Amino acid sequence: MSAYHPYDDTLARHAAGRLAAGPSFVVAAHLATCRECRARVTLFEAAGGALLEEACVLAPPAEMFAATLRRIEQAVERAPRRLPTVSPLEALQSPPWRRLGAGVQWRRLSLPQAPQAYLYMLKVARHGCAPRYAHRGPAYIQVLQGAFHDEHGRYLAGDCIEADDGAAHRPVVDSDVACVCLAAFESHPRLTGWLGRWLQPLLGL
Ligand SMILES: [Zn+2]
Repeated sequence: MSAYHPYDDTLARHAAGRLAAGPSFVVAAHLATCRECRARVTLFEAAGGALLEEACVLAPPAEMFAATLRRIEQAVERAPRRLPTVSPLEALQSPPWRRLGAGVQWRRLSLPQAPQAYLYMLKVARHGCAPRYAHRGPAYIQVLQGAFHDEHGRYLAGDCIEADDGAAHRPVVDSDVACVCLAAFESHPRLTGWLGRWLQPLLGL
């Protein structure tokens, strides 16, 4: 079972279709492997519909609250939407891997509905280090294989990390297999350090 999940606010925005395409893709990849989050998204979807219905009814607040709760429970029991358990990556054409230094490969994914989304896959060889990078705004990272740690914690396959501090990170792979991650950013990620600053324009990152 995963130790790290998207925040409830992120799951609610995904359920309501209000999350940007890149982050939403990462959340969908997490949902494919996490029953706990699938249940929460189903609840948020049902709650959204029920609240919309209630908004059309004029009733005292207490009655409205009780009625809304009843409708949510009924909606979940009546029509539990089956969220997909297949990763959206299965249906996406992936470009070839590109080298980014020793033991590090990356590729940028293009979503048909949002080709400009900052959506990447990163593969780092076992016991390798990813280049130090920084980002503005939140980052959404799903570990697909292997494990890594950084200044904030250790993350295993299935974990979904939301990093909202924008600070520089230096992921270090500590699994016996290569670590593969899916990552979405709200703005262009920046490689830092002298090597990163040299590589970034060459790679068009
Ligand atoms: Zn989860």
